Amino acid sequence: MQLADPVEAVVVHEPYALKGARTVLRGGYSRNTMSLPSKTNPKTAWNPDRLDVRAFALAGARLEAEVPLPAFERLYAEAAPADGAPASVHWQAQGEMRPAASGGAPAVWLHLEADTHVPLTCQRCLGVVDTGLTVDRWFRFVADEAAAAAEDDDCEEDLLALEPRPRLHDVLEDELLMELPLVPMHEVCPVQVPMQATDPEVDAGDTEVRKNPFAALARLKK
Ligand SMILES: [Zn+2]
Repeated sequence: MQLADPVEAVVVHEPYALKGARTVLRGGYSRNTMSLPSKTNPKTAWNPDRLDVRAFALAGARLEAEVPLPAFERLYAEAAPADGAPASVHWQAQGEMRPAASGGAPAVWLHLEADTHVPLTCQRCLGVVDTGLTVDRWFRFVADEAAAAAEDDDCEEDLLALEPRPRLHDVLEDELLMELPLVPMHEVCPVQVPMQATDPEVDAGDTEVRKNPFAALARLKK
């Protein structure tokens, strides 16, 4: 029986495999298979649902995936009904170790990027306004939630806890939700834009407009 789970394609980049750097395309894996660590090389089996961010950063590893928008349930709940196939969310995560400013142990960092567009309801014309959302954020990871709460007031960075291991999907969705405009609106609502130039009525109107400046100029010359 097939799970109704959305299928994700994840590309695992292995920057530490210098000779003939491999790109492993995992098409159509399910959450179940991804959570089983690989026996031969555990570093290739990053689990985005429970990421060991420290190991991920130490390896300088990267994860990338294309996920259908409906998989982000909280975000999709904000979407207006739209024709056609739902958009997808393209995201990637990059781990990095950075020397601590104080000279202590190196810090664990994670760069998260996401790109999508969500159909929202324009608050002026009530039509659908396709709204692009992008996330581009760095997070520093500390031991646990208590440490994150203790440090949070003292630094400007975004802090997250290494334990419990984060589900990248949820972190990404939180960030995408924050990118939603408070009042979605077309820059110019399509109902106020003249119809296509092939429309005979618009052509006639257009000619009218072109004549008028001369009439106005003629009046000025008098
Ligand atoms: Zn509008």
